[in-house]
Amino acid sequence: MQESLRALLELQKTDQDLHELEQYKVDIPNQLETMSTAQTEAETGLADQETKVAEIEKDRRQRERELQTAQEQVKKYQGQLYSVKTNKEYDALQTEIQAQKTLIAELEDAILQLITDAETESETLETMRGETESLIERLDEERTALESRLSAVDEDVAVKMDERKRMSMRVENQVLKVYDRIRRNLRGMTVVPVKKGACSGCFHVIPLQVMLQIRQAQRLVSCESCGRILITEEGQGY
Ligand SMILES: [Zn+2]
Repeated sequence: MQESLRALLELQKTDQDLHELEQYKVDIPNQLETMSTAQTEAETGLADQETKVAEIEKDRRQRERELQTAQEQVKKYQGQLYSVKTNKEYDALQTEIQAQKTLIAELEDAILQLITDAETESETLETMRGETESLIERLDEERTALESRLSAVDEDVAVKMDERKRMSMRVENQVLKVYDRIRRNLRGMTVVPVKKGACSGCFHVIPLQVMLQIRQAQRLVSCESCGRILITEEGQGY
């Protein structure tokens, strides 16, 4: 029985490795998905900022055209001042000129503000561009590592399965049957040590008489609460 338990512990270790490998097949694609989302978010943010800067520039050019038109209007009206015949016409032109000058002042203020805004937003854009580039670079490296890890998993599983087959041959058939049955029904460890008088799988207190049976290792002892195969704490290192 001792030999079977020793072999069983090794088998359990292999099964844990196998479980870990199977977990990679779920975890790695999830990680890749998260990375891809992060990249898309960064790229979208960058594109939005590019649009923002372009909109400000477009707005500024529009205001500059309006400014030019207003300046031309002032010149035109000022030229007309010399050829007016009545005071009323003269006053009307002066009012028009004043209105255009007010507009010019407003446009100049707006253009200055847009120039300042463009500078600020462009700086932000450059920072974002740098950050996005380094993010993509980092993600590419991680992606390559994860993908090669993932592609090796199937091979690792095959190797471990082979190892498992060889190990299970060293375990008594009845013991193996019990082990496999518990393993199918329970999460985590199947063979557990008794720690401080309790099953370390479910913390059920093990009666002294049962402890004695475990120590004797004459037959397979299961926890009466969770069904896990029990070994002594020292037995961990079989
Ligand atoms: Zn238990």
